[in-house]
Amino acid sequence: MGTKMPEAYYTKENKIIKIDYANKAMNGSFKCKTEKCRVPVIFVDAHKKKYADKTVVVNPYFRLESNEKSHHIDCKYNTKGQVEVIARESDDNILKAIEEGKYNFRLNIIDEALKTLNSSNKDELENEDPSLNLKRPSRVYVNQGKLDSYFSTMQRIMQLRSLTETHDELREIILLQYGKQEIKWSQFYYVSDSLSKCYTYIKRNDVTHPICIEGVLKEIELPSEKFKYHVVKLRSPWVEPDKDGIITLLTVELIINNNNVLEYIQSNANFKNVAVYSKFRVSESKVYIKQNQTGTKKFRYLNIKGNLYHPKQILLY
Ligand SMILES: [Zn+2]
Repeated sequence: MGTKMPEAYYTKENKIIKIDYANKAMNGSFKCKTEKCRVPVIFVDAHKKKYADKTVVVNPYFRLESNEKSHHIDCKYNTKGQVEVIARESDDNILKAIEEGKYNFRLNIIDEALKTLNSSNKDELENEDPSLNLKRPSRVYVNQGKLDSYFSTMQRIMQLRSLTETHDELREIILLQYGKQEIKWSQFYYVSDSLSKCYTYIKRNDVTHPICIEGVLKEIELPSEKFKYHVVKLRSPWVEPDKDGIITLLTVELIINNNNVLEYIQSNANFKNVAVYSKFRVSESKVYIKQNQTGTKKFRYLNIKGNLYHPKQILLY
């Protein structure tokens, strides 16, 4: 059980080295950098991943050499230990120990917090005159301090999930609860290869719980005359045309409803990996025909859209 690491202890030179200075030939000589852990780890090389309009390099990382030997429980790369830390530092309404090594995460609290921000955002839109805003404060259902704390916990869980070596680790530790309903991790967290499942799930089930999507940042679309917000766009997964020659592209877009979100993104512009959580909705476009020198291509878009009301809804890494 562990998370991907950017550094390791190199036994041949008795020092900690960064991933950029490591390579495959050095494998067999790496251990976890945490002094009281020092479990054997290996270098995993960078590889290329093809998206609809670009091939992106997936960064190299260190991981556990074997699943038999886990990190020390106090090591910061031990997944279970990390959940314990997050739970200890969070409001126990939201992430609560239910038995030894197992926790309950209440998604409905995140849902309520997002609703609060959504409605206060709407109030501001209705009140274009700032002096009116002063007279009529935004409706707040969850107080700001609690709200920041809930979102922070949610972001840390999302970060941990994005860094875990295998997809199943958190499933064993954190039970996702949405009111009385139990949500599976596979219904809650999606990587770009599972976006089509995400689309179908939202479309079929009238999903109301928040969902996490992990991917690669494509661009930030600037506001226009038609639409006054910045929009975060993720890269669409690569797909072959279907039997009618139509290329169906899954797109993920997040409308930025808060300036702090934009500031966070701009100050982390060197990162390309992104994870977000929001309440998403889906829509399907008609078929577009595009012509260029190489011929005619037919496209259909399956859109997954959400909103960013708080900087802790997004993580660049
Ligand atoms: Zn360790």
